[in-house]
Amino acid sequence: MSKIRTRYAPSPTGRMHVGNLRSALYEFLIAKHDGGDFMLRIEDTDQERFVEGAVDIIYRTMEKTGLIHDEGPDKDGGYGPYVQSERMKTGIYMKYAKELIDKGEAYYCFCDKERLATLKSEVVEGKEITIYDKHCLGLSKEEVQAALDAGKPFVIRQNNPTEGTTTFHDELYGDITVNNSELDDMILIKSDGYPTYNFANVVDDHTMNITHVVRGNEYLSSSPKYVRLYEAFGWEVPVYVHLPLITDENHKKLSKRSGHSSFEDLLEQGFVTEAIVNYIALLGWSPEDNNEIFTLDELIEKFDYHRINKSPSVFDIVKLRWMNGEYLKAMDFDSFYEMAEPYLKETLTKEFDLKKIAAMVKTRIEVFPDIAGQVDFFEALPEYDIAMYTHKKMKTTTESSLEVLKEVLPVLEVVDNYDNDTLYQAILKFVEEKGCKNGYVMWPIRTAVSGKQMTPAGATEIMEILGKEESLKRIRKGIELLENA
Ligand code: GLU
Repeated sequence: MSKIRTRYAPSPTGRMHVGNLRSALYEFLIAKHDGGDFMLRIEDTDQERFVEGAVDIIYRTMEKTGLIHDEGPDKDGGYGPYVQSERMKTGIYMKYAKELIDKGEAYYCFCDKERLATLKSEVVEGKEITIYDKHCLGLSKEEVQAALDAGKPFVIRQNNPTEGTTTFHDELYGDITVNNSELDDMILIKSDGYPTYNFANVVDDHTMNITHVVRGNEYLSSSPKYVRLYEAFGWEVPVYVHLPLITDENHKKLSKRSGHSSFEDLLEQGFVTEAIVNYIALLGWSPEDNNEIFTLDELIEKFDYHRINKSPSVFDIVKLRWMNGEYLKAMDFDSFYEMAEPYLKETLTKEFDLKKIAAMVKTRIEVFPDIAGQVDFFEALPEYDIAMYTHKKMKTTTESSLEVLKEVLPVLEVVDNYDNDTLYQAILKFVEEKGCKNGYVMWPIRTAVSGKQMTPAGATEIMEILGKEESLKRIRKGIELLENA
């Protein structure tokens, strides 16, 4: 078999949609799993949809996610140019379109908008389609030449048969057969001279020796027409894998409104790249074992495209959050700190030992924005309900807490070194003398210094961060609240 060659062929129309990233990832994995080549091709033939800066986003995302291409606009592998608008200038699309005209598989069409508007449309599978009536197929050679000579605007259309059927194979959907009468004579070359995606994808995939095509299943219904083009040219059809739509929790197409439809959205929400890539790999593919956490290298090793499934892929943000948390736990501390620091600084403006606080939250957050809710009490003691002093398991009540805080206050007042160890020993000694359980004392102290039910660390670690003055102030405040109750 020839070397596997895959391509990611984005249109530069904006942010990197999660669905696009999944196609890119699968194309990358298919190639790399077999030592093949992965190529980047920019599909910019639809000038109206072109968005400034979108190409940069594509490069940045590929690099950041580690989907490194072997060939592309910036890496010539002998199949260039790799940008469709540049390919167009070489005349390649026109050349092949003319070849089809010579074979009777395509024809010039000079119909104007007004005439096209009069064509009947019908609804097929819920979609309104207009089938071109082959009007211009009836023009004689001379008529065509005269129109061309007169500079009449034209398009070139595919000439599909009106009888019989066309069958093609998709790895996920199996053999798909359609009636040729449903195949519109789609435009191959537009009036601006650009090829349509429909034509360019076929010409490019063939001339670039692409063996496997992975793309969203919105292209499934057009694929018979592509297959007819391959057949008309006498070219081999690549392996097609059309991926199911990615939906949100409500089974609606994942859209901008969901707030997490693009790679950039997810980064902005504090997800880490590795977790995003890992999660996206599982949106439609599963390994043989039940493992879920994979590095990119492990994915390359495990990825078998025959295991891609066609059940709808629901983007489950809760699961991604969980997975992200696993990545944060496993991350080395320095890398974690580097990413956490801006979030810490946003919440904590006073002088705290941020590294110590980062270490406290590392295993407790799922995404970086969770940091605020974990550490905000350091900045300022929140207003809290004294009911929090009551803890069944610790056997504490508001009365017992008041008593403990009053007794432990003088002990803590004479501690000079407010480090975790010294504080812990001092409290332990107090606990022993009192003859009670640890929690009976620690719970009220922790409640007083944090004002929170859940904290990322114990009482003495919190006091170490707060320092002596602030810690004592908060304990006195606790006493006051309990006394006034
Ligand atoms: N340019 C198309 C898109 O961005 C690519 C589809 C394909 O992979 O063939 O949707």
